[in-house]
Amino acid sequence: MDTGALLVILGKQGAGKGTQCVMLSRYYAIPHISSGDMLRSNVRQKTPLGIKAKAAMDAGELIPDEIVTEMIKARLLQDSAISTGFILDGFPRTVSQAKALDDYILPNKFDAVINLDVPQAVVLKRLASRRVCQDCQAVYSTSMPPKVNWTCDICGGEVVQRDDDTEESILRRLELYDKETYPLIDYYTKANILKNINGVGATEVVLKRSIKAIDSALKLRKD
Ligand SMILES: [Zn+2]
Repeated sequence: MDTGALLVILGKQGAGKGTQCVMLSRYYAIPHISSGDMLRSNVRQKTPLGIKAKAAMDAGELIPDEIVTEMIKARLLQDSAISTGFILDGFPRTVSQAKALDDYILPNKFDAVINLDVPQAVVLKRLASRRVCQDCQAVYSTSMPPKVNWTCDICGGEVVQRDDDTEESILRRLELYDKETYPLIDYYTKANILKNINGVGATEVVLKRSIKAIDSALKLRKD
């Protein structure tokens, strides 16, 4: 049997990565492995890794590399993920994480690393206009507000701008992302698997661009 597509997706906050992952996972019938979702579920279920991660978060620290790496490695060993394929989201974020992944999958065994490229000005505008329900976390924006007076359409909660969605802190997060990810992009460019995808446009249009790039990579597969 052919191995399913082995994909990594990179993209800054506000680039529309979550939506693209859901659609690509459906299209290629591969699981979407999101490090953020896994982390939240480990914390909720109070697993040993979840407890360590929560301690770091509570102390206002970044979650140590090895916690996330261990979590991802454990997931890749489940349901023979490596042979059925997957789309990896939120991991790796650094070259050291990428190298840890190389113990399992060498860079040249990935079919494609999709880099969802959206100009800073566009994501800044998207994120700065975002408003969120305090109670159910439903997402609105200044151009698509709730029907009545910043009261959530779904639950009646108050719809507000998150504290960390100010222009200043968004810019700080985007800068950190660029700084952290640049070496990773370089790493996968050298492995000849990086696909830069223009992330500006309708969801379906962006999806088609990704599929085209992935399909051509699957044709050139080096098994
Ligand atoms: Zn609500």
